[in-house]
Amino acid sequence: MSASVNFFKFKPTIKLLLLTIIVVIVSGCFPSKDLGRQEYLVQGNTMGTTYNIKVVGENIDTVKLQQGIDKKLKQLNQEMSTYIGDSELSAFNKSTSLSVVTTSPGLARVLNEAIRLGKLSNGALDVTVGPLVNLWGFGPEYRPETVPSDELLAATKARVGLDKLAFKNGMLSKSIPDLYVDLSTIAKGYGVDLIAEFIEDKGINNYLVEIGGEMRLKGFKHTGELWHVAIEKPLSNERAVHQIIVPKDNAVATSGDYRIYFEANGQRFSHIIDPKTGKPINHKLVSVTVIHPSSMTADGLSTAMMVMGEEKALAFAEANDLAVYIIAKTDHGFVEQSTVKFMQYLK
Ligand code: ADP
Ligand code: MG
Repeated sequence: MSASVNFFKFKPTIKLLLLTIIVVIVSGCFPSKDLGRQEYLVQGNTMGTTYNIKVVGENIDTVKLQQGIDKKLKQLNQEMSTYIGDSELSAFNKSTSLSVVTTSPGLARVLNEAIRLGKLSNGALDVTVGPLVNLWGFGPEYRPETVPSDELLAATKARVGLDKLAFKNGMLSKSIPDLYVDLSTIAKGYGVDLIAEFIEDKGINNYLVEIGGEMRLKGFKHTGELWHVAIEKPLSNERAVHQIIVPKDNAVATSGDYRIYFEANGQRFSHIIDPKTGKPINHKLVSVTVIHPSSMTADGLSTAMMVMGEEKALAFAEANDLAVYIIAKTDHGFVEQSTVKFMQYLK
């Protein structure tokens, strides 16, 4: 794909308070073909949210499938949840030792991708940002709902930075005793990849996997049609489809700062922190949607571009040949822009 001007402006549209990807399988206008296949739904809870999985095939034992899925997710949480006090990652965070520890393969995979995306995004995605996340009240600790002092902010910022984390060949160490690693920005995406791989290992090649809004799809619905995903308009008082996309065999991730925030002195504070300032992001970008083969990568990239803001995000998407769809707030309403690579997925 060429790196020329890759963006098209869409007309400003209806007010969007919140944009979220939802698992809407838009009913097709084609008659169902009888392919002898059935669609099965598997639902449950993980990582403080829900998962929804659709698999298509013949005589699938969903009870057994779900047992396998839950086992994978339990293991994931035990490796990297910051909400589980004795998880592998929590143990690393609690330890003040600077010596090297070996990591489980799962944690290693997520750390490698987190560090790679951190470098690629020039520090916009920073998994050591945890102390700042907690300071602003979005971590596993209590929520102060107040604005921290400049002194406390500076002291906390001094504890943050990917340069303080060393990871090579599965060997992990930190250069300051109180470094805190928070993988929550890509863990859901990783969970989606893990389940997609597990399902494929079982010989199922038509599926949709979703955890807390992060999604990955493959193949076809039981009717023989491609999976459709709806980007929805505001949840507040109407439920209308804003844009339908057909991501094919890919993952879809949306990052937005309208869902989780707090307000103080009339200002809205997002749960996404700009590591450069140490403060919650404060710009005109409403949401970033990324389509990519890996859910973990899409998840991390969408948050990274949310940190960057509109102009930098578009330049980054162009430079890295990414399929990206953004919504920004302007004086004239909301404006969507899409990279050329994303346009093939618009219905
Ligand atoms: P979104 O869906 O809006 O991208 P995510 O849950 O994927 O939200 O990521 C946001 C979470 O990541 C925050 O709740 C916080 O724990 C953490 N986080 C915030 N800012 C950053 C950042 N700059 N880099 C990495 N992680 C971050
Ligand atoms: Mg994200």
